[in-house]
Order: sequence, then structure tokens, then C-alpha cells
Amino acid sequence: MPRTDFATGMTCRVCGKLYPKSAINFCVDDFGPLEVSYDYDAARPALTRAELARRPWNMWRYRELLPLDGEPTVGRDVGGTPLVRADRLADALGVERLWIKNDAVNFPTLSFKDRVVSVALSKAREFGMRTVGCASTGNLANSVAAQAASAGLETFILVPADLERTKIFGTAVYGAKVIGVTGTYDEVNRVCTQIALKYGWGFVNVNLRPFYAEGSKTMGFEIAEELGWRFPQHVVAPMAGGALIGKIHKAFTELHNIGLVDAPVTTKMYGAQATGCNPIADCVKSGRERHKPVRKPATICKSLAIGDPADGYFAAKLIRQTGGWAEDVSDEEIVDGMLLLAKTEGVFAETAGGTTVAVARKLIEAGRIPRDEEIVLCVTGNGLKTQDAVFDALEPPATIAATLAAFEELAGLKAEPVLV
Ligand SMILES: *Cc1c(COP(=O)(O)O)cnc(C)c1O
Ligand SMILES: [Zn+2]
Repeated sequence: MPRTDFATGMTCRVCGKLYPKSAINFCVDDFGPLEVSYDYDAARPALTRAELARRPWNMWRYRELLPLDGEPTVGRDVGGTPLVRADRLADALGVERLWIKNDAVNFPTLSFKDRVVSVALSKAREFGMRTVGCASTGNLANSVAAQAASAGLETFILVPADLERTKIFGTAVYGAKVIGVTGTYDEVNRVCTQIALKYGWGFVNVNLRPFYAEGSKTMGFEIAEELGWRFPQHVVAPMAGGALIGKIHKAFTELHNIGLVDAPVTTKMYGAQATGCNPIADCVKSGRERHKPVRKPATICKSLAIGDPADGYFAAKLIRQTGGWAEDVSDEEIVDGMLLLAKTEGVFAETAGGTTVAVARKLIEAGRIPRDEEIVLCVTGNGLKTQDAVFDALEPPATIAATLAAFEELAGLKAEPVLV
């Protein structure tokens, strides 16, 4: 087997202190988040375009830039989603070149979370863990439950008790133990931290977070490869904890560093949130260095409703450094965004996708994103999971008698006299 262990360790993002690869997510000196670092010089000859051409179209084709020491054992088929050229949506938004990175069809649970979970659970197995879990607003729980089931791991999922029934259902079906906690996402997260520390279990977005977050990079790798080894000029990404947007940019930087893309990264990154929970967007727009936590998130976009985002500071900093911007949109605009995407491109995205489309529209109208440059919108989850959000915005179907005449009348067709 060729070498895959190019991840050398973890680095504190605040003080730079080095840590070995282990199940911890913060620096003991300053509580700064830890990030995986790699030996790019060693990875460069291993990950060439010729080598990639031989590999299957899934996220593990970039395994030299993922933090496993061996082959993946969980989620081997995740990723490889389409980058869809979106000309009809482009017309509606008044822009020239637009693409949708469609993770609404990610395998196995129809959201981008399958990418991060497959890395975290493969790593959990390398650490010898038998019990895993997460705190989740929904999509993460679905993915942990499904992928842990396929790996035979025991699973505890803690969720806010007021979550949509359908989302909990889509987790319990895989045999995971689902526990509703009366409290916000942030309170649920705190309990998970305590359990992970006390029992040494692998909570994917707590003690496995540095590895988990690396999985997000594969969305960026795929976008660049699908564009023919180029970077788009503008990327709009939804933000919850704020990891995805930063990792897409890190992915572009790595592709340049190891020589797969010659041109340097000049992509501007734009973050999308719902107004009912907009800590990062508010931070960017107000010019503050650090976000103000949102105590009580209030939006239909539950998948992005993290009031105190773990990577909020770094997301805001990156957005500013790249020359991008952030925006937030109302629940009505989110629904309009979902319907616009569905009606123009035939893509039914969940509320986070509606948020991304609506924020893109707002940024284009404000002149923040130019109309004649290349734009990629990241659609990260499937609309079948949040049907309640659009249900009332759609007309109930008309009912007619079982006659041709009744159909013609309803459809506004001229009923021709029939000659016998
Ligand atoms: C988790 C999630 C995100 C954002 O992820 P972060 O890395 O936490 O910012 C975006 N979209 C959907 C659908 C998600 O479930
Ligand atoms: Zn530190």
C-alpha cells in the first residue's frame, strides 16, 4: 500500500504549539483550536494529476491531504458530488457564470456532513475507539448514525429536544441511541464535551474536531478539479460553526502548494447565514474582530443555527483577508431562495441551500459580487429533510372531475369540438 500518513501532527491556531495526532481539539495553554498540519513536500510527488486520473471519483482520491495514517475504513464512497453549471439560475440572478456544488446528493445521508464524518470515524477507529457520537442540529446526527452503523460502532446522538421530528427519525432509523436534551445547541455541545472527556469516546465535532474539519477540504478539492484544475473567483458558502468556509479556502491553498494548480489562490470567500442566527455575518458587517454569540437562535434554518460558532473568529478573519463579505437573510428570503433554486435548476436544497442562494442574490444586487465573474454556490444539504420550510409556500394541487373537458378548462386549453 502507498503511504497516506502525511499529516505530521496538530498545531494550535493561536500560539503555534505542536501536538501529536490525538483525540483532543484545543490547546492546553490558551484553549486555541488545533489544526492538522502536513508534510507537503513529501505529499507532492505522491499526489499528481496522473495519479489522480487512476483513482475513483470520491473524496478519498485526495487522501494524502487527509489526516488518516492508513486507508479509510468508514465512508469509503463519500464525496464526488457534481459541480452543476447553473445557467438558468445565473439568468435569474443576473450573472454570467455560475455553478452549484451539489452536496445535496452526497452519499450516504444527503449532506456535506458525510465528508467530515467519514474522516472523523475512520480516525476514531485508528484511535481504537468503539463508541462514538455527536451533538447535532440534524445533518451531522444523520451522518454519524448511518456511517457508525455501517462500521459497527456504538453511537450516542445528543440533539436539542425541539428539533424537527423528521430529522430525529432519520437518525434513529440507523439504530443510534438518540437523546433529546432540553437546551440550545451550545448547551448540548457542552454535555458532549463532558462525556467525551470522561469516557474517552469519539465525539466527532468535539474531541475529534481537528480531523472532522479536515474532511470539509474535499469540497474545495473537488470544486477546483471539476473546474479543470482552476479556482473560481468567488465562492459563497453557508456558515454554522464556520469550519467549512475556511477549509474550502485551505483546500485551494494546498492544491497550489503541492503543485496541482499553478495559479495562486485569489478566490474571494463569502459567508451565508440566517438573520435569526447570524453571529459571523454580523461580525463581518459590523467590523468587529470577534463575534457576539447569539443566545437564542430563531430561524427555520436549523442546520446553520449555531449561536457561538467554534471557528467564528477564523471565518470572519478569512472572509476579510480574501476580500469577500458575509450577509444574512430572513426566513422569507430563505424560502424564496429554496424555491428559486428548485424552479431554475431542479435542485431541491434544504434551508441552508436557500440561505446560500438568497445571500448570493443579496451580494450580487449590492454589487459586492461582480456580475461578469465566476461564482460557485455551495449547496450543502437536501430539501427532503426540511420539507416543512416550504410546505406552506406551495399551492395545494387543484382537483378536477375525471373528464378531458375539465382538464382543458383548468389548463386554459381551448376545447375543440370533436368530429365523429
Ligand atoms: C454543518 C452544515 C454547514 C456548515 O458547516 P460549518 O463547517 O459548521 O460551518 C452547512 N450546511 C449544512 C447543511 C450543514 O449541515
Ligand atoms: Zn495554544
